Amino acid sequence: MVLERQRQPLLPRERPVPPVSEGQLLIQVDACAVCRTDLHVVDGELNDPKLPLVLGHQVAGTVVESRSASFAAGERVGVPWLGWTCGRCRYCTSGRENLCDRARFTGYTLDGGYAERAVADARFCFRLPDGYASEEAAPLLCAGLIGYRAYRMCGDARRLGFYGFGSAAQILAQVARADGREVCAFTRPGDGAAQDLARSHGAVWAGGSGERVPLDAAIVFAPAGPLVVEALRNLEKGGTVVCAGIHMSDVPSFPYELLWGERVVRSVANLTRGDGATFFERLASLHIGTRRTAYPLERANQALSDLRSGALLGTAVLRI
Ligand SMILES: [Zn+2]
Ligand SMILES: [Zn+2]
Repeated sequence: MVLERQRQPLLPRERPVPPVSEGQLLIQVDACAVCRTDLHVVDGELNDPKLPLVLGHQVAGTVVESRSASFAAGERVGVPWLGWTCGRCRYCTSGRENLCDRARFTGYTLDGGYAERAVADARFCFRLPDGYASEEAAPLLCAGLIGYRAYRMCGDARRLGFYGFGSAAQILAQVARADGREVCAFTRPGDGAAQDLARSHGAVWAGGSGERVPLDAAIVFAPAGPLVVEALRNLEKGGTVVCAGIHMSDVPSFPYELLWGERVVRSVANLTRGDGATFFERLASLHIGTRRTAYPLERANQALSDLRSGALLGTAVLRI
């Protein structure tokens, strides 16, 4: 499925199998999870995509052809959002390749996984953990990886607030519970289904986003700037509000006293390969279950519109 122009539906296209260069893998895609970032690309809120573009950066599949010593044909592999970095800029050389000036991103500036076949740079791929079918593993590749980076930015906070309970929150709620932390889930007011989902994934409290609950840290997953202020209103001194999305509406002005007391507001951008290694190591002793809705590849537009409208609970996964 191909995005030819932003703000237009994806179109089914037959394309030749892409050539595989040195260091790359040709992958038979089994499943590709849908991320809110995909919506931002389609809707034009991220405005520098390669076009035409194959979306999708939570790609789980099987290596068909390998031109890298790291993977062999037949191995199961995951392709995340970070698809290439320069290795030379001041960010790459200081352990911050997530901030690389010239980074390329799967499903944005590189073709991704809304397809039967994908090509990826082997250095940025991950071996999928045992015990996860491809459809289960796909949401781990962005919601899990970048979510886990955001989670680590919360430090040792005991009570965490999650604003928006979608794909990433349901994964992290399980990690947090295993780490002995409490999760409070803030959803659209009155969204009982999302609140039930949150409780079933271990949240100790679930309610509307305007409610007052003291928090040691918060992660804002929903792309709505006013939630940053709501989170600050609940935040204890010294706590951090982490903005985990790539795009957000404007953050309204707020009184300085909400920030006073060494409170921090920060964003999390992309991931490093080290984040992936750390996250997959964590999964060795913790099995994450996700609520998913599967769509066939040709119904990718439906999956996107269900995510956009909020009709979807959990994660949409394209089954190839
Ligand atoms: Zn994503
Ligand atoms: Zn770089």
